Amino acid sequence: MSKRGWAVATVMVALSLVVAACGKDKTTETGSQSNTTAGVTTTRPTFAAGSTMANLQAKGKIVVGTKFDQPGLGQKNPTTGKVEGFDVEIAKLIAQGLFGGSLSDAESKIEFKESTTPNRETFIENGTVDIVVATYTINDARKQRIDFAGPYYVAGQDIMVKASDNTIKGVADLNGKKTCSVRNSTPAANVVKLAPQADLTLFDQYSDCVQAMRDGRVQSVTTDNSILLGFVANAPTEFKIVGNKFTDEPYGIGLKKGDTAFRAFINDRLEAIYANGAWASAFTATLGKLGIPTPTPPAVNRYS
Ligand code: GLU
Repeated sequence: MSKRGWAVATVMVALSLVVAACGKDKTTETGSQSNTTAGVTTTRPTFAAGSTMANLQAKGKIVVGTKFDQPGLGQKNPTTGKVEGFDVEIAKLIAQGLFGGSLSDAESKIEFKESTTPNRETFIENGTVDIVVATYTINDARKQRIDFAGPYYVAGQDIMVKASDNTIKGVADLNGKKTCSVRNSTPAANVVKLAPQADLTLFDQYSDCVQAMRDGRVQSVTTDNSILLGFVANAPTEFKIVGNKFTDEPYGIGLKKGDTAFRAFINDRLEAIYANGAWASAFTATLGKLGIPTPTPPAVNRYS
């Protein structure tokens, strides 16, 4: 090869190396920034330094408080050890918005911590959890201590009785009867207000109420219809729902009071999953399986 020929060849090799390097860089960048699962590509977003989102990304983990005893919403599967249900799916979708990647990548970055109704505000305040996704009704009393993103679903209070019981048809029928709910819950407060003569037993979790009804210690269990439906689905010949809902229970995602940027991020993420169909898929795969038709998601409330 002539001198000139070598020079041209050298330039071409060098050029192709540059092109390859650019291509490689691009591939690497794409590889670390996005992931494709079931046709959905999510990119790892960047957040303002010092924000809760940036801090969680740096930690590579989010701690989510949820229920472990509520079928269809948040229940620990004794075989796999995984928590399953609509609240769990919502948590995964939020984590996906934080970390990018697929839903299962997001799941691997969540530490689920069992939270019961009475300890939710405390867990948020003292940093035991970063967020709570746990059939958590948004209300003003709770907003004194924590903030809520959402709502992402609206349930309603109802009553579960033995399948053979025809004496309880609505909240007023709880007067003079033994009913069970959970400490610090909105259903417990509603019973005190709407059926003041009810003989109310309070536990820390609804599965204890279900046990009390099995044992005959109480005649009914009252809480959100979404929760009761899961218990009935597990024992359809034993229990039934009265089917006369008497409140609205808008479910929010609890977070530290005053963390406005984090709340806005979760609200934006909720709107994104409403729009892209991921919220509806999550619902259909969980509460939908218990027979609830997939509703239109509620508008998020960016209260100030
Ligand atoms: N949604 C109601 C509440 O937040 C009842 C369900 C629950 O206790 O988690 O009080």
